[in-house]
Amino acid sequence: MSKIKVSELFYSVQGEGRYMGVPSIFLRTYGCNFTCQGFGMPQGKLSKEANEVAVMHAKTPFKDYKDLPLVSTGCDSYASWHPDFKDLSPMVNVDGLAQSIVDILPYKEWRDEHLVITGGEPLLGWQRAYPDLLEQECMKGLKEITFETNGTMRLTSAFKEYLLKWQMPNTEFNREITFSVSAKLPCSGEPWKDAIKPGVVVDYQNYGYVYLKFVVATEEDLKDAERAVDEYRAAGFTGPVYIMPVGGVERVYTLNNRAVAEMAMRKGWRYSDRLQVPLFKNEWGT
Ligand code: SF4
Repeated sequence: MSKIKVSELFYSVQGEGRYMGVPSIFLRTYGCNFTCQGFGMPQGKLSKEANEVAVMHAKTPFKDYKDLPLVSTGCDSYASWHPDFKDLSPMVNVDGLAQSIVDILPYKEWRDEHLVITGGEPLLGWQRAYPDLLEQECMKGLKEITFETNGTMRLTSAFKEYLLKWQMPNTEFNREITFSVSAKLPCSGEPWKDAIKPGVVVDYQNYGYVYLKFVVATEEDLKDAERAVDEYRAAGFTGPVYIMPVGGVERVYTLNNRAVAEMAMRKGWRYSDRLQVPLFKNEWGT
């Protein structure tokens, strides 16, 4: 039986991108190939907030994910990859996980809810476990899945084959996979050569609907987004582009959400909100 290291499992409203406002189950897997400590920091500086929380955790362990403090700089889901919080993400058998997913649906069966597989980076090694999860009997009514990825992980041949099979026309309903690619610009603190992988993202287009989503705060970030979009387009990317304000906490988000909407209008790109911030203050489990 396959297992997945699960950081969070919760039911909420999707706050970002194509499915904004759609009731969604979020499965947050553990592990990421980045640390994104540059978000919200002056250029060239890295956030120390996650490491500070790790020091607190070493002194007096947090018992539950929900008890962890929110951070205003760096990756806002730091506990889904920081090695010092590994103990808060149990390895779970996919049969039990599938049942837990269905148990938190409002009618205990799939209706119009959508499954978001996020992270961390959900397309790391867990690709090998998803087919087993999705083939569990109670997952059969699921119609739409989004992988929230940083767009740097190639899909394995076995997973590609499975994704095509999962979306094969069916007499009862259509199924669709979406790749929400949150490519990391220099404001994340990650180097361009590691973060912008057009060939990887273009390949996702063969297995689902793909869009790009950039977190921006300044005109400089917008210029970086333009450069990245040029590279993705040159490689054959055809999907839409979203830009989204920075800010895991409301104080930071409200500083630049309108400015980002205006940037989106200027470029003819789509604006994505982060509804989880104004609606739920971005608390864990939202
Ligand atoms: S890629 Fe996403 S999950 Fe990974 S560190 Fe960056 S923001 Fe966090």
